[in-house]
This record gives sequence, structure tokens and C-alpha cells, in this order.
Amino acid sequence: MLTDGDNDTQIVRVGAHDVRLTHLSKVLYPETGTTKRDVIEYYAAVADTILPHVRDRPATRKRWPDGVSADSFFQRDLGRGTPEWVVRRNLEHQTGTSTYPLVQDAATLVWLAQTAALEIHVPQWRFGRPVTKDGAPRKPDRLVLDLDPGEGAGLGECVEVARLARRILREMGLDPVPVTSGSKGIHLYAPLDGHATDEQITAVARELARTLEADHGDLVVSDMKKSLRAGKVLVDWSQDNGSRTTVAPYSLRGRARPWVAVPRTWRELGSPHLRHLEFGEVLRRIGRRGDPLTEPAPGRAGVVGRDERAGSSASVP
Ligand code: ATP
Ligand code: MN
Repeated sequence: MLTDGDNDTQIVRVGAHDVRLTHLSKVLYPETGTTKRDVIEYYAAVADTILPHVRDRPATRKRWPDGVSADSFFQRDLGRGTPEWVVRRNLEHQTGTSTYPLVQDAATLVWLAQTAALEIHVPQWRFGRPVTKDGAPRKPDRLVLDLDPGEGAGLGECVEVARLARRILREMGLDPVPVTSGSKGIHLYAPLDGHATDEQITAVARELARTLEADHGDLVVSDMKKSLRAGKVLVDWSQDNGSRTTVAPYSLRGRARPWVAVPRTWRELGSPHLRHLEFGEVLRRIGRRGDPLTEPAPGRAGVVGRDERAGSSASVP
């Protein structure tokens, strides 16, 4: 997309919009020498894959203007200099109203990358359409469980807990897909039919976490207090609250290396070599195998439709 050479400032056409890019050669990941140009190229290349997961959701950005070894900050509101074509919506908080950008197209992704917004965080619900008018927040369309390894635990323990959680979720008619967070743990995403409120989904997630803890106390904790976590995995059930966010699938992470939150297959999760993936690996795997998060799990596709599954989910309100 970008022209080669030393041209540190460019205006690029992305879809219907012009985006002004600056400081393209600035290194944002010193350990790997990854520049802002690389980050922009990543988000442009992954646009078709990430957009279905972030579209119509208010986007909280975590920005590292001087790279991952310097300061970062979360940003909810649009900043000054936001292009007028970026779709935006207001949300009321206890502390006031914020105007969020919605990541509706590749141009918005490229603009976010230009602002060194390495991480994109979104809630589990979408605004109703049309988002440019008064589409109100809808009920959550996915359940997320956040598996956090405590000290002395790692991805391996998260995989064990993910499998246990999957078994219970499938009994409820839900079909979770694992996402290696690109940081420490694993997120489990299960699509919902959109009938339950965030409070109801949170209650289901909490119950699930407590059940796992009761049955596997040597491996699982459901309490947020970190002192309890050594060697165990915290099943954080609070991600389904409507005011909470999770890093979006395919978002980069602001860690030492350019790791990404990557949807994985259950088969991959069984590999003894499972590890977090970097953005180059992610682009190659999308080309090779597509997105595990948009494909029905093998064996269930075409046998049990989404509606049918939701209808049989006795435990999900
Ligand atoms: P890890 O694998 O290291 O746990 P993570 O992305 O799951 O990575 P968590 O600390 O478990 O990180 O937090 C889960 C999610 O909660 C984050 O992805 C983020 O969206 C949100 N979150 C956490 N801390 C904050 C914060 N201070 N402000 C806004 N959102 C936050
Ligand atoms: Mn986590």
C-alpha cells in the first residue's frame, strides 16, 4: 500500500478516504525494529479479517506514540485531528459522555495505526444499525472468558482450563473458539444469538468460573485477588459486563515483540509447541487457513445450526 523509500510522510488512498501518514520510519518495537510503516501495513493487510470482529463496536485504543518501551495510554474519546469521515458514537459513563470512533473500514484502521494505536479494545456488544443515526447499544453477541495465568502458570495451564470450559459451554449449546491473547493468556469467544443481557451473560460466566474452581481447585481460581493465583489460572468472568472491553481478535499488542491476539483452532491448542504469534506469522496463516473465529467448528458445521443451538441452550438465559 505504501510507497517504498525514505518518504516519511505520505497521503494514501484507502477505500473512499485519504489518510495522511507521518513518521513512517519511527521504530515502535525496538526489539524487532518494527516501524510504524510495518504496523500500518499489518492493519491494512488484516483489515478484511479484523473488521467483522470490531465493526459497530465503540473502540478504545491503547496508544504508544513513542513505541512500546515508552509510555502508553488508553484513549476512548476521539482526539483532535480525527478525520471527519471516521464514524463516531456517544456513550454515557458515570463520569460523563465519551465520543468513540467505530472501526467501520480499512481507512479507519490505517488512521488508528497512524496514531500508534497498537491495541484496539472493544466490548462484546454492537450498536444497532444504522450506526450513524441512533442505533442503540444492542445485547451482547458473544461471550468472552478471559483466562489469566498466575505466577508459575503459563499457556499450558490456560489450555487445560480452556478445554474444561469448552466442555461446559458445549453442554449449554455454545461453541467457543480460543484466542491466544498475544500477551500471557487465552480468551474464549462463543457467539451468542443476542437475546440475553450483559448481566445475564455475566451471571453465566461467573457460574461457569465458580463451577470450574469447585471441580478443579488445584488449577482454577475465580476470584480476582492475585494472591490466590500462584500456579493457577484465573477465569475472569467480568469481560461480559457491557462497560468492559477485551482486546480485539487480530489486534497487535504493545508488548516487547509485535505479538497479536490470534484466534486458534482447538487442534492447534493441543500442540506442545503452542505459543503467541507475531504479526508476520498471523498474515501468513490467514492466507493459508482463514479465520478460525468466523468458521463453524469442524463436526458441528451444518449439523447444528446457530439458531438451533441457541434454542437448545437451556442454561443460557
Ligand atoms: P493477558 O493475556 O496478559 O491477560 P489481556 O488482554 O487478557 O492479556 P487482561 O489484563 O487480562 O489483559 O485484561 C483483559 C482485558 O480487559 C484487556 O484485553 C482490556 O481490553 C481490558 N482492560 C484491562 N485493563 C484495562 C484498563 N486499565 N483499561 C481499560 N481496559 C482494560
Ligand atoms: Mn487476560
